Amino acid sequence: MTIYNFSAGPAVLPKEVLQQAQAELLDWHGSGMSVMEMSHRGKEFMGIAAQAEADLRELMGIPSNYKVLFLQGGASQQFAMIPMNLLRGKTSADYLNTGEWSKKAISEAKKFGSVNVVATGADKNFSYVPEFSTWKRDPDAAYLHYTPNETIGGVEFNWLPEAGDVPLVADMSSCILSRPIDVSKYGLIYAGAQKNIGPAGLTIVIVRDDLIGQTVAGTPTMLDYKTHADNDSMYNTPPTYGIYIAGLVFQMLKRQGGLAAMEQTNIAKAELLYAAIDASNSFYNCPVALSDRSRMNVPFTLKDANLDGDFLKQADARGLLQLKGHRSVGGMRASIYNAMPLAGVQALVDFMNEFAKKNS
Ligand SMILES: *Cc1c(COP(=O)(O)O)cnc(C)c1O
Repeated sequence: MTIYNFSAGPAVLPKEVLQQAQAELLDWHGSGMSVMEMSHRGKEFMGIAAQAEADLRELMGIPSNYKVLFLQGGASQQFAMIPMNLLRGKTSADYLNTGEWSKKAISEAKKFGSVNVVATGADKNFSYVPEFSTWKRDPDAAYLHYTPNETIGGVEFNWLPEAGDVPLVADMSSCILSRPIDVSKYGLIYAGAQKNIGPAGLTIVIVRDDLIGQTVAGTPTMLDYKTHADNDSMYNTPPTYGIYIAGLVFQMLKRQGGLAAMEQTNIAKAELLYAAIDASNSFYNCPVALSDRSRMNVPFTLKDANLDGDFLKQADARGLLQLKGHRSVGGMRASIYNAMPLAGVQALVDFMNEFAKKNS
């Protein structure tokens, strides 16, 4: 039976990447060592890390005045590092609140300065992106933070907030590499790797170099972007195996035609799944506003929540795993990141159609 893993994260990885890692597990390129056993300062691993960075720069078109940092601590640690590094003597930052991850970023930022919430989706249970014209922005904000894809609520931006001179900061944990973006529009982009890049334990930060080096007093060395930027992410031991796997993913994405090709596949997958939900005569419902539906995380409920248990059990038996929705939302959630093939979404849709027919 083919298994399709719809987990929100850690999530499915490309089979060919796992197979390559398996083939190289005990002896990387004739070195006689596993990548896990290598010194991060040896020429083999330095080469692996440099290649991963070069490939990510190529895939995303990262300009040369941006640093790429390979860190640990998850996206959650960035919730603190961002205000510590980016307030730069200012007292307030702008935050958009579109759901669970925005809220966590906001509550952490409040420890370091005042937070101006420019707009919130709370009035409609975080099921949409508030229109840009309604945002109450502070022209003197240190930066503007938003979450382009709310992994739990399934709310995604299909447009770019134009922040002007205020550095735009984006938590791309669950949408990085899913479509082409213009990196030069951002001051800082960050993402935990375990959704759309690689294994848990690696966090990627892409930061414009003029924003580095003006931390709040008392910032620990490890939480200062300058420490990592000045040392090519090798100030201390980086998450070496995670960087290696991420590098394999980047190479595979390049072979497959880059982010424009990924976007086409991701659109096709999302359209297939949303079409099935919308054509189900309200047997399935997606609570998210049409224009703001995520291509990566698709939350949906069943008309009768008493059927949830049967749905999950039967899906499991068909090899369709990890469809249970987040505990704060309930229902189901299908995460269909880059590594989920169209065939996986088709298998899910086939099952959903059958299940609806049997239980209507
Ligand atoms: C998963 C996720 C996080 C948290 O990531 P950790 O690496 O577990 O800290 C933050 N933001 C978004 C949008 C996420 O999807």
